[in-house]
This record gives sequence, structure tokens and C-alpha cells, in this order.
Amino acid sequence: MIYLDNNATTCLSEGVKKCIRDNLDLYANPSSIYKESKEAAEKILSARKSVAKLINAPYEDILFTGCATESNNTVFCTCCNSTKFSQPHIIVSAVEHSAILETAKYYEKYHNIQLTILPVDSFGRIDENKLVSAIQDNTVLVSIMLVNNEIGNIYPIKDYVKAVKKKNPYTLFHTDATQAIGKMLVDISALGVDFLTLSGHKFHAPKGVGALYVKNLKEFKDFVPFMKGGHQENSHRAGTENILSILAMGVAAEETKAFCSYDLIAQLRDEIESKICAFKAIPVRIIGDTEHRSCNTSCVLYQGISGIDICNMINSIADVCISSGSACNSVELKPSHVMNALNIDGIPIRISLSRYTTKDEINKFCNALFMTINKLKQGVNK
Ligand code: PLP
Repeated sequence: MIYLDNNATTCLSEGVKKCIRDNLDLYANPSSIYKESKEAAEKILSARKSVAKLINAPYEDILFTGCATESNNTVFCTCCNSTKFSQPHIIVSAVEHSAILETAKYYEKYHNIQLTILPVDSFGRIDENKLVSAIQDNTVLVSIMLVNNEIGNIYPIKDYVKAVKKKNPYTLFHTDATQAIGKMLVDISALGVDFLTLSGHKFHAPKGVGALYVKNLKEFKDFVPFMKGGHQENSHRAGTENILSILAMGVAAEETKAFCSYDLIAQLRDEIESKICAFKAIPVRIIGDTEHRSCNTSCVLYQGISGIDICNMINSIADVCISSGSACNSVELKPSHVMNALNIDGIPIRISLSRYTTKDEINKFCNALFMTINKLKQGVNK
């Protein structure tokens, strides 16, 4: 198999597998009072420190969750329920993951939230002036992703935070950094955000574990837990801790922090794109803001050929795993909401690399892709 769908999910690293194996017998509930529980609690603390270090945040500000979707829901739950405004206002971008967009629409429909969805241009870029003009006195939250999962655009969050806070210092800023971790340096103090979401399975930890950074969590008096119940996570997130996955995410965080060769991943991505552009069988274009893009993502649109057909055929003839749009949309036979937002009428393919992707895999992938395109082209020309 040639796996180039790392924005959908990633493999477990060897270090992560070892951590899981080594801790299989650590089943004591960290909330109990015996020494085995204390060991579990101490290990969770150590994982919290590793995740915090990865994004240069105080460890007290890291909350473990079940996934990025839960982290995002937690932000909305807090901001929509702890406000003095009878109708709070929230701003999101049109290219957010459905974990943000659908949550925002839910609060609009059922909780009387005023929602602004910021448009993007044909490169997926957001106009900062439009963002600033959308801010109102009752704007409680702006949520804009750091890296887009389909086109790989990196958004200038640091600039947005400054501009937003200048217009309304009470507006909180959240960034969904799920696709940024492991693909670029992420530094909380440089970004200046109030909340940041991350997900273990996007950086070689298991599925079913995520984290949320909350600025000054201890002093955040109005925090409203999304998961209500017990007193885990200092009463910020109820539910017995997923110890194995939390420890595994701690190891993945340490490994990701130690990796800094993002330019090597970008070189492989650029190599794929130059080969794709040189292969002139069918008009093709690279989608997104190629000047400000994640090192690992390439979104490619072939004129007249659906990305779904390419994904299916390349998988059956060469065991290559790529995606058309986001993984969550792969069952739908229409352009994703991101393509609609960019005004692109077509379904592209998404190739997403990881730090484990090799040059040999890239070469094999390109050969398989061109064979696939030639076969599908014959169908188009019939
Ligand atoms: N946010 C972004 C930007 C994503 O790409 C994804 C998954 O693809 C999610 C959120 C949801 O992540 P999770 O599966 O951890 O809930």
C-alpha cells in the first residue's frame, strides 16, 4: 500500500506502539486513591506536559478530550452558554471543517446565536478587512482554522487575532489546529489565541483522543464543560480518562516536537506537483493558496475527471490511498463545501504526506496516477 491520505488519519509511530504495549496493564482509574491510580495520574500529567510543550503552552491550560470534534464543541459550548448577550454573535470561515461549521449551525438553529460565515476567494483566502468589519459588540467568538484539511492553506491567525482584539478586546479567538500539528511549528504565545484544538490521530497517536488549549484555564470562571458529569480534568471534562491514548498522544507530541524537517516534506510535495503539471494528458490545476500552504498537502483538479473516480481506480490498480476532498465527504458524490466556497465546480484529489513518506513512494504514486488518468481519459474521449 502507498498511503498518501495523512490528512484523514496517520499511522501509529513505533514509539507510540511501544508506549501502548508498555502500559497495557495500567488500568487503574486515575481518580481512585490507591498507589496504582496515582501512577496513572502521574503519567497523565507527564503526557499533559508533553502536549503543552509541543505548542509552547502552560500544561495547566491543556484539557484532554475525545477528539478534535469534541474540542471544537467545547469551545462553542463555553462561548454560547457563558455570555451576557441575549443574542451572541459568532464568526467562522466558510472553509472550516464540518466539526466547526455544523456546530456553529446547530447553535444558530437551537440557541439563538447570530452566525456570520466569512467567504473566501478562489484561492481559499480570507479578507482580513471583511473579518474586522464583521466584528460587533456582541461578537463572543471568532473561529478560524490554522490549516485547511482539503487545500492545505495556512491562515495568518496571529494577524487575525491582533485585528480582532483591536476592534473588540472581549471577543475570544479559537483556532482549529488539527491539520497544523506535525506539519509546521505551532506556538501558542506567537499565535495569541484563546483556544486551540488538536487531535491525536493526525500526528501518529491513536484515534479517539484530542486536546484543547484554553488560555488561563484555571481562571476561566465562565468555562462550561461540554461533557458534563464527574470531576475529571479539574471538572472541565467529565468521563474516565482514556489513559492509553492520552499517554500515546504524549509520546506522539514529544516525537512531533523533535521533528523539524518540514522542508523535506514540502520538497516531496513540490516534486509530485511538478510531475503532475508536466504530464499534459489532461488540463490540471493545483487548488489553494500555493504561497501559504501546509508542507504536506496537494489538492489537484483534473478537468472533466472526478477525483472520486481517480481515487477508486488508483486504489484498485495500484493500492494507493488518496482522498477526494476531506475524508468526511468521501461518500458524497458532489464537490465539498470547501470547493463550493472557492467557487470550483469539480471534485479534486487530495494527496497528503507525512514525515514517513519516501521518494520511492512518490515516484510509484506518480506512475500509478498517470496510468489512472490515461485510462479515465479514454472513458472521457469515448
Ligand atoms: N478539524 C479539522 C480541521 C479536521 O481536519 C478534522 C478531521 O479531519 C477534524 C477537525 C475532526 O477531527 P477528529 O476526528 O479528531 O474529531
